[in-house]
Amino acid sequence: MKYFFNLVLLVATQQIIIGQINESPCSHEAIMERQLALNPNAERELMETEATLQELITQLKASDLSGQRNTSSYVIPVVMHVFHFGDEGRMGMEQALAGLEIMNADFNGLNDGWDTIDSEFDSIKGELEITFCLATIDPDGNPTTGLIYHENEEAMYNQGNLFEYAWDNYKYLNIYFPKYTGGAPSNFTAYAYYPSISNTENNTDGIFYSSIRWGYGDHSELEEGDDWASVCSHEAGHWLNLRHTFEGECSTTNDFVDDTPPTLGGSIELEGCYNHDFSCGVRTNGENFMDYNHRCKKMFTQGQVERMEAALYLSSRINLWSEENLIETGCLDFYTTTQDASSKEELITYPNPTTDYITFKVNEARYELMVYNTKGQLHKRYFMENAEGQIDVSSYGNGLYFFSIVTAGKVRTGKFMVHR
Ligand SMILES: [Zn+2]
Repeated sequence: MKYFFNLVLLVATQQIIIGQINESPCSHEAIMERQLALNPNAERELMETEATLQELITQLKASDLSGQRNTSSYVIPVVMHVFHFGDEGRMGMEQALAGLEIMNADFNGLNDGWDTIDSEFDSIKGELEITFCLATIDPDGNPTTGLIYHENEEAMYNQGNLFEYAWDNYKYLNIYFPKYTGGAPSNFTAYAYYPSISNTENNTDGIFYSSIRWGYGDHSELEEGDDWASVCSHEAGHWLNLRHTFEGECSTTNDFVDDTPPTLGGSIELEGCYNHDFSCGVRTNGENFMDYNHRCKKMFTQGQVERMEAALYLSSRINLWSEENLIETGCLDFYTTTQDASSKEELITYPNPTTDYITFKVNEARYELMVYNTKGQLHKRYFMENAEGQIDVSSYGNGLYFFSIVTAGKVRTGKFMVHR
């Protein structure tokens, strides 16, 4: 448990002053305290999740099909809960969407800083093809803006139980927006919960974020272009199981990511893009989203992207981006428009994840379907006689599978998950 101790200690000693915002950007101390209060097994569960995650990373890496893998974006339905008192803290839609756009740009390498990354780290920068989509269907099946207002003065100060407003955590990423995450004035901007099946089960997962630091616009105190707004990508990184780059200090395990240089987080005290901190004898990747240098946020590394992609296959995250869930939350249109439209029209697989059967819809009268395991070995071969056909996967073990559909002159690939 040494690492939890370090984590708390680090946060406690790193109350910092950056620019006009006299606070720490993200509080892991708050996360762990709340996590432990909610769930006494949180530490054990976190260790177990870590073991599962390492297996998933290996599975995804081992796939010989990685070059041909379906490159479609993961889509995560989001609900945003705004806690306000009259106009106070009542962030509008424009500001809400501005924050989501920042997140989507940051994860996909479309952010302004992407092309000016320090040359020492430019070759290890990574993109996770993921889209955070504001839900358009609520849990009762009714249309929604995805931006839900709760008039509650106490909750505006992040006091009381904000989780009572949660939407099903298996179906939506819930982002809670008190005006001040850490009371008034906020001692930190935001915090997020690591993947945890018991949190998901209890609807106590999600991200908490001060509405005055989210995006740009009416209630935000940030000026457009301020990298502080990318703290949202830092929090989504935690939500996908990323640790701070300075976690574990100079130890070899550090943040469980191989390509992020160890650091004491020295760059947090520095304004802007200053990468010359050698706190662990190597140069700090101060432009990393998971560093504390919140006035210079530009990149995740490829190792961090692997870790986040694997986290999407954890049982606490996997249903969110399934096609079935995207239909139920009104994010399927988004899905269709944000990836290669031609491949989407030509190939639909559902349900995914599945338990016993999976249906393939392809614009072909007959075709050969090959299913591979994550080592790239052929698992099963099917000859399909209809444009819409079902295969029985009830004998398959739990896990990730890749497939290719071969027709005259065309190979289409994808992946599906068997999960019971
Ligand atoms: Zn953090």
